[in-house]
Amino acid sequence: RWAAAAGDRRVLLAGPRSFCAGVERAVEIVERLLDRHEPPIYVRKQIVHNSRVVGELEQRGAVFVDELDEVPENATVVFSAHGVSPAVREQAERRRLDVVDATCPLVSKVHGEAKRFARDGNTVFLIGHAGHEEVEGTLGEAPEQTVLVERPEDVATLDVPDPDKVSYLMQTTLALDEAEGVADALRERFPALRGPGSDDICYATTNRQDAVRVVARESDVVLVAGSPNSSNSRRLVEVAQREGTPAHLVDNVDEIDLGWLAGARTVGLSAGASAPTVLVDEIVDALAGLGAVEVAERTTATETVNFSLPKEVRHR
Ligand code: SF4
Repeated sequence: RWAAAAGDRRVLLAGPRSFCAGVERAVEIVERLLDRHEPPIYVRKQIVHNSRVVGELEQRGAVFVDELDEVPENATVVFSAHGVSPAVREQAERRRLDVVDATCPLVSKVHGEAKRFARDGNTVFLIGHAGHEEVEGTLGEAPEQTVLVERPEDVATLDVPDPDKVSYLMQTTLALDEAEGVADALRERFPALRGPGSDDICYATTNRQDAVRVVARESDVVLVAGSPNSSNSRRLVEVAQREGTPAHLVDNVDEIDLGWLAGARTVGLSAGASAPTVLVDEIVDALAGLGAVEVAERTTATETVNFSLPKEVRHR
């Protein structure tokens, strides 16, 4: 296996890759709190869906909990980048917790749309994946009026009180082509369907998918750095696979199966929006251990998005 995997290679980096502005902001919020306060700093759910990021913050004194009843009264708690439902905010208030909200502003935008559509008396179809934290938070804005739709084939059986008062929203980290397939099916069944003012699938998701698609076309195999619970990382793998290129999610460098690399002269490399660049560097180093590596990059977009920090941590 080692012999088959050894050899000179070209590594083709997809640009953009790795951290988005929402993840940068969420991680920095926890880091700044850890700089300023004695640990523990509580974080509800994983701050972002990446095991390396979570592990490093844990070492510095962050305590990740599933629900707020695990947080002592009056303690500081950070809400993760994926957002929370109003019920969680109310619970935090009841327990007199000091909340620092790391919800990505682009997730908050979807919450705002959910509220607006619901207030107008619409049934809201949320296109997304069941059980994902972002979806649970968005559903919680108007639980009586929101219906999760995962696949185009789910549309035929939807039952709504008024087919003229329907709208849709999307989870921010879906594969654009798949989500559009569901939106098309909804539009066909409900001609009065209203959509969000601008795309819910965020700029970072779109850019990373475009870049990995280009890289996959030129590669024999694609590796995507990211954790299994990261929705946008998993979508990158699928987007690459839809180009006909084998693609694998790699949470850490030990997970690389040498069999994937046998005969692969060009290895495409990307990283989900929650995966730190160090993982990409480690993968390049591991490939360099198998033979000479020439690194090239395919950049399909340049990102300049930057979100300001919440007031609680804005000033150093
Ligand atoms: Fe925000 Fe998009 Fe990053 Fe999610 S992937 S944190 S929505 S910028």
